Amino acid sequence: YDAIVIGAGLGGLLAAAHLVQRNKHVLVLERLNHSGGRFTAKTFQGVQVSTGAVHMVPFGSSGVLAHMLSRLRVPYRFFDADVFGSFHVHGKQHRVRGLLGVSRFLGPRQFGWFLRLGWLMFFRPLPADERDLPFDRWLERHINVKRNPQLVAFFERISRFALSLELHQVSTAEVIQTTKNMFRFGAPAIVDGGCGALSKRLEQHVIKQGGEILHSCEVRQILQEEGKVSGVRFLQKTSGEERTVYAPLVVSDIGPRATDALLENRRITQAALLKELKNPAMEAPLRGEPTIREAVGLKVHVLSDVSLIPHRGIMYCLDTKRIAGIVQPTNSDPSLAPPGKHLLITHQVIQSHNVEEEKALALADLRMLFGETFEKHCRVLTMGTYRGEWPVNRLSQGEDVSPKTHVQGLYLVGDAVKPSGYLMVEGVAQSVNHFLDLLDS
Ligand code: FAD
Repeated sequence: YDAIVIGAGLGGLLAAAHLVQRNKHVLVLERLNHSGGRFTAKTFQGVQVSTGAVHMVPFGSSGVLAHMLSRLRVPYRFFDADVFGSFHVHGKQHRVRGLLGVSRFLGPRQFGWFLRLGWLMFFRPLPADERDLPFDRWLERHINVKRNPQLVAFFERISRFALSLELHQVSTAEVIQTTKNMFRFGAPAIVDGGCGALSKRLEQHVIKQGGEILHSCEVRQILQEEGKVSGVRFLQKTSGEERTVYAPLVVSDIGPRATDALLENRRITQAALLKELKNPAMEAPLRGEPTIREAVGLKVHVLSDVSLIPHRGIMYCLDTKRIAGIVQPTNSDPSLAPPGKHLLITHQVIQSHNVEEEKALALADLRMLFGETFEKHCRVLTMGTYRGEWPVNRLSQGEDVSPKTHVQGLYLVGDAVKPSGYLMVEGVAQSVNHFLDLLDS
């Protein structure tokens, strides 16, 4: 082979698609029995229940992923949000299209401070001593946080939903860069057919162009000779057979920690990772010294008989204990749920070790938000945590590493390699652009 890709997640598939376009003989090895990683879905009771992503693309049809798919000629359709979002405050949902919408739920005084923060973020060069300041501390420096609770909640809920991070876990420079990109590229979008349909199309594209994708094949070791990568050893799970394949280029979509382990002929297990993960949200990467800096979350799929969100954007929830935001992707693509039904997906950061308590708080939030309607018309389909080997982001926004490794010919792609300001799958796509630049240089 010319190249071996470890993992058929979005990052691995996008990297493979570019390599086959360059007439490389490519082999993709995926340990699961399907492609897509955390960006696909399974049909459960007629609903597209996703393995990770909430069927959403952060920068919509003007973003990095959209441009990349067009360039690769992979067919796709994104439904851009029709509003910036809505904000659920004091029992009411306020739709926000422009600045005026924000003023309605913040009130004149907090809106004044909101404008001042906007000026500080976008029109004033960020002083060097504020760059690495955790964003909660930056807010404390510029506003009276006690007197501006909704304004703080505004930033907090967006950070929890978009980055799966608390404000003390993300630097001011990263928040500003990400927000600038949100304005530069535009509203988020829901993927037509959901994330499963997109990963399937990408997979078919790779195969059509001559790439090989082997499922149920777990890479056990990355081989190197004199500081250069030479191939991989993998286990074909269905037959139990071990095989070795050789290539001068290996692209890893499994993050730096698992890649390092494979270089040392070690395996990382979910059980070992969860033991290490003591108190995810409290151990702030910027303050403590955690060994794990992934972003962790909890997601709930709810099926409803009635529509609860009247737009295609995100509904941020400012009064909740846990849920940061909710989307109703069936507003964009009704086929994601059975006819006449509405799919809602909630997202929150996990704030304690006690997963059962986190789930109970999510349910309490849903009852608080939708009252009797929730009891009468909604059914919880799934509720799951995302951490360890299957986190929301393998490395927290702003903590990412370079695609280049210390081994010649071995590169990383995926959501541990997101450049500053590029979140979620936009960061994954941008990691592939970065890898290609390095390959060409
Ligand atoms: P992965 O998808 O994890 O792919 C890695 C692949 O490698 C996997 O398929 C894995 O099985 C395989 N693998 C691992 N080890 C081996 C091995 N040894 N050998 C072979 N294969 C191996 N992003 C958005 O843009 N929008 C959203 O709405 C959104 N919401 C999210 C909500 C949740 C709850 C979660 C968990 C994530 C969300 N994300 C969202 C993030 C997004 O899903 C991920 O950033 C993205 O899917 C990561 O892709 P990846 O290719 O980097 O990694």
